[in-house]
Amino acid sequence: MDLGLAGRVIVVTGGSSGIGQATIGLLLAEGAQVATCARDGERLQRVWNGHQAHLHLAACDVRDVSGVDDFIHATAERFGRIDAVVANAGEGTLSTFGEATPERWLADLEGKVLGAVHPVRAALPWLRRSDAGRVVLISGLISREPEPTLVTASAARAALANLARSMATELADDEVLVNTVSLGIIDTPRQRVIHASSGSTASYEEWAADWARRRGVPLARMGRPDEVAPVIALLASPLASYVSGADVTVAGGAGRSVH
Ligand code: NDP
Repeated sequence: MDLGLAGRVIVVTGGSSGIGQATIGLLLAEGAQVATCARDGERLQRVWNGHQAHLHLAACDVRDVSGVDDFIHATAERFGRIDAVVANAGEGTLSTFGEATPERWLADLEGKVLGAVHPVRAALPWLRRSDAGRVVLISGLISREPEPTLVTASAARAALANLARSMATELADDEVLVNTVSLGIIDTPRQRVIHASSGSTASYEEWAADWARRRGVPLARMGRPDEVAPVIALLASPLASYVSGADVTVAGGAGRSVH
């Protein structure tokens, strides 16, 4: 199946690790040109050393409006177009309502909502000009099913889901299609950080299998980034031309809400 990505220019935020990295690898293999950013520019360069011919790299925090504007501007200057934005950058944040400080609330709303808004807003003139403008917002199952230890992240993801509906409706006038991907537990470096801070004496593999069971994942394991990337690539591609305002769950069967 040809996704029609050859020659397309796709922005993927947070491309130095995990899901962003896997998605960029797939997009490049499909012939797309990609621009990506992360806060740690040195790690980004290390990860993508040798791929710069079709890849624009920038050290940029998605919460920083002018940094994001510069990143998008440089992408358009270099490649001459932008067809899709995948808002993926983000980090896991554990907190109950009782523990969450005002700073924690602000950080999650900035990171998980405005961190998606800024790159899409900056790229909007280019997306409108494309004949296959796409926005893919990476979110979590927690937007519908909040986790007790992820209260601020869950609320921020719910706001993003709501925003995605508004964007899908408004941008349909310009044929820019907007969808979210709601993830369950995906085995990326952030899970190792959670394991390290969990106090568990089990190996990472034992802890991961147990956590998937405790979170009620029917497939009884975490997902892999390479199992998420094809879903993102399809939604970012010209082939997905009649899907907008949808939320695609990639969670190994987890998620009990009917919506
Ligand atoms: P990783 O930690 O493996 O990768 C995150 C990437 O985003 C890195 O490249 C990181 O680089 C970058 N990043 C983080 N914060 C910022 C920022 N403020 N500005 C720019 N870049 C940033 O995470 P995953 O691949 O697991 O997660 C990808 C997305 O999926 C995130 O939004 C996450 O919340 C979401 N998600 C993941 C789940 C999972 O189970 N893995 C579950 C639900 C949602 P750097 O640190 O250098 O900035």
